Amino acid sequence: MASSAGAMKPCASPMPTAEPELRARIEALARDKGFARIGVARAEPLSEDAARLRRWLAAGHHGTMAYMARTEAVRADPTHAGMLPEARSVVVLAAPYARADAPTGPEPGRVARYAQGRDYHNVLHRRLRPITRLLRDAGHAARASVDTLPVLERAWAQRAGVGFIGKNCCLIVPGLGSHVFLSAIVTSAAIEPDAPMPQRCGDCTLCLERCPTRAFVAPRELDARRCIAYLTIEHRGPIEPELRQDVGDWLFGCDLCQDVCPFNRTAPPPGEATAPYAPGTRFDGVEADALLSMDEDAHHDFAGGSPLRRPGREGLARNAALVLGNAGERRALPVLRRAAEEHDSDVVRDAAAWAVARLKG
Ligand code: SF4
Repeated sequence: MASSAGAMKPCASPMPTAEPELRARIEALARDKGFARIGVARAEPLSEDAARLRRWLAAGHHGTMAYMARTEAVRADPTHAGMLPEARSVVVLAAPYARADAPTGPEPGRVARYAQGRDYHNVLHRRLRPITRLLRDAGHAARASVDTLPVLERAWAQRAGVGFIGKNCCLIVPGLGSHVFLSAIVTSAAIEPDAPMPQRCGDCTLCLERCPTRAFVAPRELDARRCIAYLTIEHRGPIEPELRQDVGDWLFGCDLCQDVCPFNRTAPPPGEATAPYAPGTRFDGVEADALLSMDEDAHHDFAGGSPLRRPGREGLARNAALVLGNAGERRALPVLRRAAEEHDSDVVRDAAAWAVARLKG
């Protein structure tokens, strides 16, 4: 495991009642549980990041993710009544997941790397539990989040010195790259904080140029409504016709803006990426056209226990239709025609009809 960010760096201004021993015990536990980086930030309102979030919401760039707007106030301040009023620290932990040997997805579709294994929420929550228990046993309150609480994990990771937010809006951990899962623990314990990490993108704009749907309106400003990851995972209903071609062969998520990032050239080799995320046989023998005819039970068998559940049966079938159309899979024409006429979802019927028309040129 790489050395902890916090252990290596000089601290920001000391907290009067910081508990260095507690921090050392948390770090040891985190290492034992497979976290590659840990950092700590002082729990306080996020002024700059909160303003950025406000602008993003006001511009409507969150699309249909209404929960982002509903939880804005809590996200902006970990001491908010909806989070932990007595919060003193935010502990951020990072675990890498990229594996060069992972399958890409049901042919001819591609699945974002983070979703190729088991549901990371469950895996990471299990790993965090001994740490929150340690904090509680020491008399402190602690709330753990793996994308499960309204916490701006990336902003806290930057403040805690774990990494920096790149122009592609991903958290980049020098030495590990951006293919990392983040977890955060908001706690009432006063733990020695780390120094924030400065932005290191420099003049590079590779990620902004690579995005096929031109989803970045500016560095660190993503219009989610154009982002392939949002469209194929979070978005419900039909995908706008002018974006369907650009979705390409992405069945679930997208890695393009991360794949071009120079910081991922030095990402850990497969052996170092955390084995518990190792993909199983989920994609073996499954082709994208099978997703068009899955009933609820078959879909559950395929997507259950994995992030692929998120778009639901309708979303995955919609995405599969677009992938088949974009991939020029003429062998899929009969399946697509049948879906265009008979699928129980009008969203899937519409996507399949689009794919048929595209395949027929
Ligand atoms: S590709 Fe370049 S600009 Fe984009 S996040 Fe990576 S270093 Fe920053």
